[in-house]
Amino acid sequence: MERNQFVAIVGRPNVGKSTLFNRLSQKSKAIVIDVPGATRDRNYADCSWYGRRYTLIDTGGFEPASTETLLIQMREQTHLAIEEADLVIFLMDGRDGLTPADMEISRLLREAGKTVFYAVNKVDGPRHEGFLPEFYRLGVPRIYDISAQHGLGIDELMDDLAEYLPPAKKTPEEGEQEKEGERIRIALIGKPNVGKSSLLNKILGYERTIANPTPGTTRDAIDTPFTFNGRNYLLIDTAGIRKKSRISLNLEKYSVVQALKTLDRCEIALLLIDAEEGITDQDTKIAGLAFEKGRAVILVVNKWDRIAKDNSTVGRYVKDIQDRLKFMDFAPMIFVSALSGQRVTKIFALVEEVYRQYTARIGTGELNRKVTEIVAQNPPPQYAKKGHPFNYVTQVAVKPPTFAFFVAKPSEIHFSYERFLINSLRNAFGFTEVPIRIVFRKKH
Ligand code: GDP
Ligand code: GDP
Repeated sequence: MERNQFVAIVGRPNVGKSTLFNRLSQKSKAIVIDVPGATRDRNYADCSWYGRRYTLIDTGGFEPASTETLLIQMREQTHLAIEEADLVIFLMDGRDGLTPADMEISRLLREAGKTVFYAVNKVDGPRHEGFLPEFYRLGVPRIYDISAQHGLGIDELMDDLAEYLPPAKKTPEEGEQEKEGERIRIALIGKPNVGKSSLLNKILGYERTIANPTPGTTRDAIDTPFTFNGRNYLLIDTAGIRKKSRISLNLEKYSVVQALKTLDRCEIALLLIDAEEGITDQDTKIAGLAFEKGRAVILVVNKWDRIAKDNSTVGRYVKDIQDRLKFMDFAPMIFVSALSGQRVTKIFALVEEVYRQYTARIGTGELNRKVTEIVAQNPPPQYAKKGHPFNYVTQVAVKPPTFAFFVAKPSEIHFSYERFLINSLRNAFGFTEVPIRIVFRKKH
């Protein structure tokens, strides 16, 4: 399972990074599920260019409105791109000309040996082409002149960039249909200092003979296979967990990008939450990413040893966390101490059950019988008199389980009815702890 290549847009403020980001992400059919509150400030998007998929990051979008000086912000953006991106689009502003800050960013990128596409924005028409020559002082062979706002020059830039992206094999909707691996792919995600490395070490400590970590399919990923209770697992991107970034400032945005990358490649994400801090915005954001990616999630409340407990403590945590993570109130929760090891082995019992649900397949006959019952009891309002609107239902994918409902007019099915169907399928077939999806397809 390869993760998407990450493409970062870097540049000074106001050069047009968000405009380019929006243009590229709207053009593609990114799977975007609205998670209220979780992903308001969208600064990453799964995109594709003629079938080649990539994840786009607007590094500027990660900047908090803060008092940091411009130069520090830009350096950080650039470091984020250098550390986390596979390809970089370095955007400059034709109207401003080549500035010292541009030269500084360019130098940092070049020193890091990144593959960089240099683009000059706001070249809105032929009259602006005179902007370009001075940018060749950067000494790079190709400068792309574009207008992010008017959509000019984007094709040339993206065609060349797409040469570096692997061809897509399947549509996101069909999900992973390849042969089932014999190892369950788990990832540890969560904000900095929540205890990911500690939990990793604890888990691997149970295994006396750890196979040598093997380099993952991508340059920076190292996955660690291990066995517990006779079952084989693969811990995804253990290098990412161990890597403590060289930049101490703004570790949080690294953790978001790290989580995104890891989520591309795992099946089950263990999302760590710090019991002492309770659930935070950063946790919600990472949970939102996991939800959008359709991953099964187990909520691991860590540092439980630090909490003074009474009879109502667990109940209070469960309620708080579920309130904040309404979109994944089905995710199981466990309270552990990575430090002492309390309940750490119990995580694997949850993983087993979640994996069973996440990979379960429901036969078409059984599915259609049940859906007929469900719809008969509660038809969509506009169909109340006309009868069952769906002429056929079938499961089209696992991980997450995805059901296609064939219907004459897919757009007529209201969002709230979709929610009702999802909940009904959940209860009817025991998908109680994993995300499931529905797609409405036009019946032919
Ligand atoms: P960011 O700070 O780098 O993300 O820049 P924005 O995307 O917010 O753009 C800054 C300003 O430049 C906005 O007013 C945009 O409308 C404008 N802008 C972006 N792209 C173009 C372009 O291609 N041509 C012109 N003329 N203006 C643009
Ligand atoms: P990471 O940044 O998510 O990998 O977090 P670390 O594993 O490096 O942990 C950050 C800090 O929290 C370290 O000082 C750990 O010793 C501490 N820590 C991690 N797990 C626990 C726990 O379960 N209980 C307590 N008391 N401390 C913990």
